[in-house]
Amino acid sequence: MQIDLRSDTVTKPTNEMLEAMGNASVGDDVYGDDPSVNKLQELTAAYFGMESGLFFPSGTMANQVAIKNHTQAGDEIICDQTAHIYRYEGGGIAFNSGASVRLLNGPRGIFTADDVVANINSEDVHFPPTTLLSIENTVNKGGGICWSSEQLSSVCDIAQKHGLKTHLDGARLWNALVKTQQNPLQYSQWFNSISVCFSKGLGCPVGSILLGNTAFINSARRHRKRFGGGMRQAGYLAAACIYALQNNVARLENDHIKAQYIQTHLNTLVLVKEVMPVETNIVLFRTESDKMANTILNKLKDHDILAASTGGGWIRLVIHLGISDAMIESLNAVLKKVLG
Ligand SMILES: *Cc1c(COP(=O)(O)O)cnc(C)c1O
Repeated sequence: MQIDLRSDTVTKPTNEMLEAMGNASVGDDVYGDDPSVNKLQELTAAYFGMESGLFFPSGTMANQVAIKNHTQAGDEIICDQTAHIYRYEGGGIAFNSGASVRLLNGPRGIFTADDVVANINSEDVHFPPTTLLSIENTVNKGGGICWSSEQLSSVCDIAQKHGLKTHLDGARLWNALVKTQQNPLQYSQWFNSISVCFSKGLGCPVGSILLGNTAFINSARRHRKRFGGGMRQAGYLAAACIYALQNNVARLENDHIKAQYIQTHLNTLVLVKEVMPVETNIVLFRTESDKMANTILNKLKDHDILAASTGGGWIRLVIHLGISDAMIESLNAVLKKVLG
């Protein structure tokens, strides 16, 4: 049996989810007629105390439309150098919005209010106007680390005091909420817009929601159409997301426990130089070199285990709902064989 730990995007819908999809009521969502999409948008907005929501085919499109909506060409966005919006969205900020980016360098992607203030440009024609702050939670490249409420509140407060809009890339916000037990309603005070993914830990085939106030979402709907993201009977997909929202959030705790268990095991193995402290469902560990990491990935593959290398000798394992306790036991046995 293959054990695929490359990402939590590899999940496939369970029979229960497929059943919910098959039973969905649908309509043409470009006309606003799809009851399942409308319900998902309302449920997600209510979950976070935001006014409105909009369904997207991917997290990337949700983030890119949010950035397009918040900025004018020539503006500058502040985010961490690890940010998905900057590194992994194909240069979309430049291509779609014509904005420049000011990169911060927080430990594991978590920066401070002072970092933000120091990087807001003053009113001077030489400088691009700083108009948007974007935060990622959990931080993907930071090994799934969570922002605390105090950190979020201080960074967002200072940004808003300086007239910046705040966006949250919450692809794995569900994991952060389960880990920190934060009240999701608080997020509406910190952020002007939030994107969340259903296609990762929650196990859906497709789907993200962008949240904001009603004027923002109306404008986002226009951009979504321009980006080619207006979908028709999308209710079959939205039904999977509704199912996930109602059934697959609390269970993320199981993924976190499995990740902790792997961490403990890795810390005993000879070829493991360092394990990034695990907070949620991502396990990152460092081997001696990139060459070594590749050798290890190949050996794991020989045992039908798929993992990803993230550079600098680091290997990433992501736990998700397709991974059982039995798979974790086989994984740990193979890791011991391969890593001593
Ligand atoms: C996966 C991810 C996204 C969006 O990815 P899509 O594959 O486009 O849905 C955005 N931000 C972060 C941090 C992610 O990990």
